[in-house]
Amino acid sequence: MPVSGLPPYDDNNIFARILRGEIPSKRVYEDEWALAFHDIAPQAPVHVLVIPKGKYCSFADFSASASDAEIGGFIRAVGKVARDLGLEDPGYRLLANMGQHGGQEVPHLHVHLFGGRGLGRMISDR
Ligand code: 5GP
Repeated sequence: MPVSGLPPYDDNNIFARILRGEIPSKRVYEDEWALAFHDIAPQAPVHVLVIPKGKYCSFADFSASASDAEIGGFIRAVGKVARDLGLEDPGYRLLANMGQHGGQEVPHLHVHLFGGRGLGRMISDR
């Protein structure tokens, strides 16, 4: 069930279609809980998106409605992808945009994983 106040999940969002294999993606990792693939418009030498397989649009939705197994599986997948891409040292950035003020374009929960160069401090207002 969606959390009250949040929009219903849109089954035709781009990441739902990637999950169903209707749109191709450069996959880097997949397991029962999560899928990771390269962003189509990379903003760093490494720019990978990690998404849970369940139908969640936001962190509020996911944290309220997902099972412990889904939450654990997703978080473990994010960590594994970062490790497997060799980003632990010298480091990387995780970023998750939520809603209008967060600049979220695709309404399926996702974490951006940026790395491959120094990323500067925190956020930009561009
Ligand atoms: P958001 O602004 O929602 O946090 O980020 C959505 C991201 O999805 C953007 O970085 C955008 O480049 C990426 N994206 C949008 N459409 C596609 C697509 O069809 N394939 C892939 N791999 N990435 C996409």
